[in-house]
Amino acid sequence: MTNEELAKKLETLSELLEITGENPFKAKAYLKAAQSIRAIPEDIRSLVRKGELEALPGIGKSISQQIQKYVEEGRLPLLEEIQKKIPIEIVELLKIPHIGPKTAKILFDQFGISNISDLKEALFTGKIKEARGISSKTLSKLRAALSNKELSYERMLLNEAEELSYRIREFFGKYHPEVNLMIAGSLRRGKETVGDLDFLIFGADSGKALSHFIKRTGNTSSVVEGEEITRVIDDKGVQFDFLITTEEKKGAALLHLTGSKEHNIRLRQIAKSSGNRLTHEGIFLKNGKLLTFSSEEELYEFLGLHYIPPELREDWGEIEAAKNGTLPKLLCSKDIKGDLHIHSDWSDSSASLEDLAYIAEHMGYEYISVTDHAKRLMVARGLTLEQLKARNEAIDEINEKYAGKIVLLKGIELNIDKDGQVDYEESVLKEFDFCIASLHWGLSSDRDKITERLIKVMQNPYVDAIGHPTTRLLLKRPEADIDFERVFEEAAKTGTLFEINSFPDRLDLPPRLIRLAKRYGVKFIIGTDSHSVSHLPLIKYGVTTARRGWLEKSDILNTFSLNELKDEIKKRRIERMKRYG
Ligand SMILES: [Zn+2]
Ligand SMILES: [Zn+2]
Repeated sequence: MTNEELAKKLETLSELLEITGENPFKAKAYLKAAQSIRAIPEDIRSLVRKGELEALPGIGKSISQQIQKYVEEGRLPLLEEIQKKIPIEIVELLKIPHIGPKTAKILFDQFGISNISDLKEALFTGKIKEARGISSKTLSKLRAALSNKELSYERMLLNEAEELSYRIREFFGKYHPEVNLMIAGSLRRGKETVGDLDFLIFGADSGKALSHFIKRTGNTSSVVEGEEITRVIDDKGVQFDFLITTEEKKGAALLHLTGSKEHNIRLRQIAKSSGNRLTHEGIFLKNGKLLTFSSEEELYEFLGLHYIPPELREDWGEIEAAKNGTLPKLLCSKDIKGDLHIHSDWSDSSASLEDLAYIAEHMGYEYISVTDHAKRLMVARGLTLEQLKARNEAIDEINEKYAGKIVLLKGIELNIDKDGQVDYEESVLKEFDFCIASLHWGLSSDRDKITERLIKVMQNPYVDAIGHPTTRLLLKRPEADIDFERVFEEAAKTGTLFEINSFPDRLDLPPRLIRLAKRYGVKFIIGTDSHSVSHLPLIKYGVTTARRGWLEKSDILNTFSLNELKDEIKKRRIERMKRYG
């Protein structure tokens, strides 16, 4: 059981409460509890053990009792109770555009529909011709939305969302260059997955340009009441929200649309405490006068806060830090001096060593580490000892050829076996400049077992870093069940580095665990896990994830110069040898 699993359960519970409509306050309370649990780095189980649950924001007595039951017995009594009235699967209907809790309830009450496939059937076979409480216009929108096979109700990976946003930008850039478009929402915050895309639009004829966009793409649109947001849904079900603003109001609008909701609530409270009201237009003073802000910086300053970068706006403590002037000086892309997790065509990548040297030099790197797979991972063409020797010689040749331009480190990605051992003896390992050890199988074994494997492998003097530590695949595979508090406590002693893997479907460690690790004094590396030269630029997503984990330049070893990096690796190996050798 992880915090994320519990948060999801509480969210489902909140959605069910909303659908049944019995107690809207309760629904909100459970949603807030879910957000709270997502925000904390500690394992929820240890909070339960220590009896500290109710210290969390939004967790009162009754919710805390539910959570306790869940941690101890794996069940939420309230959820079980509601399930007697309404099937849990009904929450999937909420993922469909145009369906909110009220509509879902009507569909269930009048037609007994609780899942997408029943809804499709009912809509297309004429079982639903009209429904009390749902307009015929909404019904036809639903038919249109559900007739598309590829309809995606799911979230997108960060890189997919970014590419999509560029396409929207291109449209406006090409046909309406006088209009300004700014990206906001969770994409701007660099969240690992993105649900919908939010844009600010301003400049002459913004409204006309937006109408043109809607007409030209043939998408449906609606105006969200009271919010002045135009919501556009494309033929795949992806939702775009546009907020039309003006040059002088764009600071407040950008802040509003970037979120997170939790962050904005806190800002509104701060404004309120001096009798003012913060909205997407600016600040309404007590006398009703509107103060506008053309930049977010001015608005934060007005509220008495240092500027908070979008990646930190989650109500994870950034407001307090912005008040006290203790915000971190976040890592930047330009701080990265090399990529430490790259595969070559000696294992399962399409990139030759020469390709890698060429691209890395042009990216302005000082070094890269070529970490091909060790032999045990047969699926990914792991290298035998002879092949490794030949590869290392090939690296020497490239280094000679590119002398003064780029340095290739002799790296390896080892497999952590069931006992926490790796593929090679220490006599072999010492030939490598940089060793990453990763969990590649046995991911569903029990918590203690996986935790022990990690703890054991970190005691190996030559294991410099742990790769993609939680093994999650976003939108596909959850994090392995690992006791990271124990792992990081040990890592602080062994000096083992933790990777922030930049591949968009991994982004692993997640920000929550980055903050936990940092608290224990663990240091990090950022790697792309590239399997093609086209993957090298993905490093930016690793940097974003590190920023969301509050990391500064000094937390990350591949911001070091080559000599500093080599010294640091050596120092840490010697330390481990003394302790465990
Ligand atoms: Zn791997
Ligand atoms: Zn890898």
